[in-house]
Amino acid sequence: MTAKLTDYSNLCVHTMTTKHWNLKKCVENYSAAGIYGISIWRNVLEGQKLKEAKSMLNDHNMTVVSTVRGGFFPSVEKKKREVAIDDNLIAIEQSAAVNSPLLVLVCGADERQPLSTSREQIKEGILKILPEAKAAGVKLAIEPLHPMYAGDRSAINTIAQANDVAEEINSDFVGVAIDVYHLWWDDKLEPEIKRCGKNGNLLAFHVCDWNVPTTDFLNDRGLMGDGCINVPQIRGWVEETGFSGYNEVEIFSDKYWAIDQNQYLEKIKKAYLNHT
Ligand code: ZN
Repeated sequence: MTAKLTDYSNLCVHTMTTKHWNLKKCVENYSAAGIYGISIWRNVLEGQKLKEAKSMLNDHNMTVVSTVRGGFFPSVEKKKREVAIDDNLIAIEQSAAVNSPLLVLVCGADERQPLSTSREQIKEGILKILPEAKAAGVKLAIEPLHPMYAGDRSAINTIAQANDVAEEINSDFVGVAIDVYHLWWDDKLEPEIKRCGKNGNLLAFHVCDWNVPTTDFLNDRGLMGDGCINVPQIRGWVEETGFSGYNEVEIFSDKYWAIDQNQYLEKIKKAYLNHT
């Protein structure tokens, strides 16, 4: 049995979860709600002076857990692969500027080429940005995405594939982000989480739920307890590896984006204690 969560000290919210708030609103409202972990999506950094962002985060005692997202390495077009590298280098700089220790990678895919080729290009891409990541003190987390996104968002669709790439690269600065939404269905999830932890590659843990039926494959994620994922069980497997980091609430939901966002934060807190 996984121990119940009793406080919010390990709760982190992704800014995309409250999509309509800018960074300032996220910081003010999260901290007012007693939530001090934040994962920053890069869209809220657009048009935002990074120095100001950093002091705003500090003033509210926020801990930046990660920045989201880099990646999108594969393409049949060399030029596009180069553009992706440049964008990832910017993402690393942004991460360092706001004291984010981790950049999450949505690795990418190109439907014009085999998944295996895309996976090779992902590995090449990560190796290309690794020196800058190291120099900036920013780790890179490969986030495997559900196979329904294999056509365009990620050629890395299982935790085993992510473990393979992380182990091949074999760097303290490259690991894996585990998201229950993408991985809950995998019958190898428990042993692969163990493997991930044992090799020192478990860098992040994302939570939400899988609605049944799911009406939209991008923007119909559930709040923990809404759907069919046994989140406490998966958290238990993650914690058994020694992971003691944040539980990051990352929910894209047209339904929840439409309600009062401060009430939504209270719902998240409740779901966090009862269903995470
Ligand atoms: Zn995630």
